[in-house]
Amino acid sequence: MYYHQSWSKTFIRFALLVGASIAVGLYLGELLLVMLIFAGALLLYNYIHLYRLTKWLWHSRTMSPPSAPGIWHHIYEGIYFLQRRNRNKRKNLGELVKRFREGSEALPDAVVVIDKQARIMWCNRNARIELGLRWPDDNGRRIDNLIRHPRFIEFMESDDYQYPVEIPAPTNPHKTFEFRMMEYGEDQFLLIVRDVSRVSHLEEMRKDFVANVSHELKTPLTVINGYLEVLASSTEDAPPIVNKALSEMGTQTKRMQNLIEDLLVLSRIESSGERIFEKVIDMHAMLKQIQMEAAALNKEKHHEIIFKVDPDLKVFGVETEMRSACSNLIFNAIHYTPPKGKIEVIFKRRSNGAYFGVKDNGDGIDEKHLRRLTERFYRVDKARSRKTGGSGLGLSIVKHVLHHHNTLLEVESKVGKGSEFSFLLPAELVALEETD
Ligand code: ADP
Repeated sequence: MYYHQSWSKTFIRFALLVGASIAVGLYLGELLLVMLIFAGALLLYNYIHLYRLTKWLWHSRTMSPPSAPGIWHHIYEGIYFLQRRNRNKRKNLGELVKRFREGSEALPDAVVVIDKQARIMWCNRNARIELGLRWPDDNGRRIDNLIRHPRFIEFMESDDYQYPVEIPAPTNPHKTFEFRMMEYGEDQFLLIVRDVSRVSHLEEMRKDFVANVSHELKTPLTVINGYLEVLASSTEDAPPIVNKALSEMGTQTKRMQNLIEDLLVLSRIESSGERIFEKVIDMHAMLKQIQMEAAALNKEKHHEIIFKVDPDLKVFGVETEMRSACSNLIFNAIHYTPPKGKIEVIFKRRSNGAYFGVKDNGDGIDEKHLRRLTERFYRVDKARSRKTGGSGLGLSIVKHVLHHHNTLLEVESKVGKGSEFSFLLPAELVALEETD
């Protein structure tokens, strides 16, 4: 419906009325009086309609407008049209909200909508059951006042919702929930909580299994290795095949021992609950020791190994883990660089943290392998890696250590030119020097 407002029509109607009143006034010889009566009547007419309009708008229960003549008809129709349009819009919006709620209720996860101040705006049925939220009683309450687990509070305060957090369920400590947060709309967040008890139970089982098997294999291997060493030293007169077999058995047992040692290190790091902010690592002293071990390993290859280490730069962290990470990177550079290569180990302060890097001019790695390097047992060249005695777990250990220390491994490499493995410990892990 559309009403076209025409000024000419309105003016003609008004002019006709005024003309008629003038004519009557002239006819009766009372022009002024007739004009006054005419103006008064017009005013009264409009007042009556204004009154009816107010009554309809505020007191009438019916949607449809009362009938009125002339311009008032169009005013009523115009308001009626707007009301109907708004009602349809409200209905559509209501439908949309209803569909969203029904969809969220059908989800197997708990869903909570919160605002920027972490105040609950809405939650679905699963959130009420699994998180113990009460609706509508908890409407407007801060979620971190209702879920009090320290890790959840830390997660909410971090403002970094890239990674989800796993904590025991608030209503059942035997269940593990994964809390994931997503920003949507204007300053609104969707908190999605999923029951990951089964996955985390399986993950625990996997870790325990690997740790137990490795531990159980350690003793028999030590015994076998011990006997092999005794046999090797007492079979000088034996046929060469026996000596060859003993030497090969010795090498393979050593490899298995290394593998088991690495598996144990990996499971220790994976399940490590050690806090990284508690102890300061004297990186200079630690790297000095690794330098000596590297020199021993470098006896055959004669690489030029240069250590550029800031002697005053100390960091917070877990020393055993950091030692594993750094030595793995340095020893890899020794292993995968052809004899007489150049290796540079750098540990220095940067404006945004502490940088550690190992650069070599060795084989380099093709780009297609870079993404998968830190996977367990992933090797670029299997035969080559076996020859070095590597377990295939070295970079996986490095990845876990760095993850525990809130950073990531960076790899830059060009085939035939060399590689650079590095990481940047965040500024908050740099221990400030004590001033006297
Ligand atoms: P491995 O025990 O086999 O050395 P890692 O996890 O330490 O296992 O390394 C995975 C693979 O990455 C290695 O097999 C090797 O191919 C490659 N690699 C690691 N460091 C270097 C390096 N400095 N230069 C070239 N290749 C490397």
